[in-house]
Amino acid sequence: MPTLVQSLRQTSRELQALRAAEGLLGWDQETHMPPKGGVTRAESQAALSTVLHQRLTSDKLWALIGETGSQSDLSDREKALVRELRRDVEKARKIPEALASDLARTGSLSQQAWAKARERNAPSEFLPWLEKMVQLKRREAECLGYVESPYDALLDQFEPGSKASTIKPVLEKLRDGLTPLARRIVDASAGSATTSRSQQGGSIPIDVQRRFNERLLHDMGFDLEAGRLDSSAHPFTQGLSPGDVRLTTRYREEDWLTAIFSTLHEGGHGLYEQGLPDEDWGTPLAEAVSLSVHESQSRLWENRVGRSRAYWERYLPIAKEYFGAALDGVTVEDVLAQVNLVKPSLIRVEADEVTYNLHIVLRFQLEEALFSGALEVAGIPDAWNSGMEKLLGIRPTSAAEGFLQDVHWSCGLYGYFPTYTMGNLYAAQVCAAMEREMGSLDVKIRAGEFSVMREWLRNKIHRFGREFSAADLMHRATGEDLNPEYFLNYLEKKYL
Ligand SMILES: [Zn+2]
Repeated sequence: MPTLVQSLRQTSRELQALRAAEGLLGWDQETHMPPKGGVTRAESQAALSTVLHQRLTSDKLWALIGETGSQSDLSDREKALVRELRRDVEKARKIPEALASDLARTGSLSQQAWAKARERNAPSEFLPWLEKMVQLKRREAECLGYVESPYDALLDQFEPGSKASTIKPVLEKLRDGLTPLARRIVDASAGSATTSRSQQGGSIPIDVQRRFNERLLHDMGFDLEAGRLDSSAHPFTQGLSPGDVRLTTRYREEDWLTAIFSTLHEGGHGLYEQGLPDEDWGTPLAEAVSLSVHESQSRLWENRVGRSRAYWERYLPIAKEYFGAALDGVTVEDVLAQVNLVKPSLIRVEADEVTYNLHIVLRFQLEEALFSGALEVAGIPDAWNSGMEKLLGIRPTSAAEGFLQDVHWSCGLYGYFPTYTMGNLYAAQVCAAMEREMGSLDVKIRAGEFSVMREWLRNKIHRFGREFSAADLMHRATGEDLNPEYFLNYLEKKYL
C-alpha cells in the first residue's frame, strides 16, 4: 500500500503531466504551428484544461489533501507539499466553473480586440472589452476572498501572500529615488556622445546569430541537452520539467543586440527551471515560488550581467569571431552606449533599466485605483496620460503609445506588473548578497566564471521550489526583507 504522501505525490504528478502537455501545445503554437492549425489547437487546449480543472477540483483530491495533512509525522518538506497543493486546489475550487470559462473565453476575445484596437490606435474599440474584463476580475476577486482590498486577491495569484498595502510603500520609495536619479543621469549624459541609441554593426544572418546566442546560453550554464532555443514574436520560457526547458528569443538581422538581451533574460528564467529539484518533479516542491523571484533571475542575467562593461569586454571579441566584418570598428564603448542609454520613453518594454520601474509604478497606481473603485474604466486613458507626464515628464500622443501598449489587461493579468519591479529589486539584492560571499561579480563575469554564480543561485534559490514563501526564501538567500536601496545604489554606481 502506498502511503498517503506517496498517493498525493502521484496525483500531483498526473496533474503536472497534463499541465506539461498543455504547455507544450502552447509552446508549439508560438514557435512551429502552421497558421491553419489554430482552430483545432484551441480545441485541444480547451479539452485539456477542462480535464485538468475537473481533476484539480475533485472531492477525492480535496479529501486526500485533508487526510495527508492531518498526519503528525510529516517532514518539513512534506508539510510544504501539502500546504502548497491545498492552496492551489482551494483557489481552483473557489471559482465556479461558469466564471472560469467566462474568463477564458472573454479573455481570448478581448485579447483579439485589443490587438486590433492597438494596431488601429482606436481606444474606443477596446474600452468595452476592458470594462468586461474588469467586471469579471472583480467577481473573481470576490470568489477568491481578501482581507484588505479586492486587488490583493489578484496580486496573490502571481505573488502569493503579497498585498497592495505592502507593495505600495516599496514602490513609493522607489519612485521618490528614481525620479531625481533619472533626471541626474539624463543631465549628466547631455552633450556627451552617448545620447542616441544608434545601432552598432551591420546586418547579420539569423542563423549565425542563433549560434552565438546558443553559445551565450551554454556559457551561463544553461544545459542545451535539457532545453532548447527557438524564436517567437514575444520571447518566453516554457519549463515542462528540469530536463525540458524551452526558451525563445527574437532576432533582427539589422540589430544583433536585440536577440542577445532576450536570450539572456529567458536564459535566466531557464536556469531557474532547470535548477528545480528533479526528484520532486510534478509537485509544488519542483515549481518556481513566484513571478517576482522568477523575474529576479531573468533580470539578473539580462541587466546586471549582460549590460555590464565586464560582459562586453569578454564577449565583443567573441562576437567578432562569429560575426566577422559586420562588427568591424565596433567598440565596447559603442555597445555600452547602445544598451545603457537612459532616456524617458513611452513604451515600457523598450525602457532602460532606470526609467523602466516608473512605468510599473504607473500601472500599479491605476490597477489599485481600478479595483478600489477610485477609478472607472472610462477614466483610464486620461489617467494614463497624466500619470506618464507626472512620473516621466512625457505625454503619449496616441493610445497605442499609451494605455493600449501592453497585452496584460486585455487577457485578465491584473496584479502581474508589480512582479516585474519586485524582480528588479530582488535581482539587485541577490547580487549584493553574492558579492558579499564571493567578491566582485565583474571579476567573475570578465573571466567567464558563470558557474559559481549559477551554483550560488541553485543552492540558495532554485532547489527549494515552493518549500518557503517567496519573501522567506529571499530573506534566507540575502539575509533581509525586500529592500529597494540595493537597486538604487546599483543604478547610482553604474550610471553616475
Ligand atoms: Zn521575464
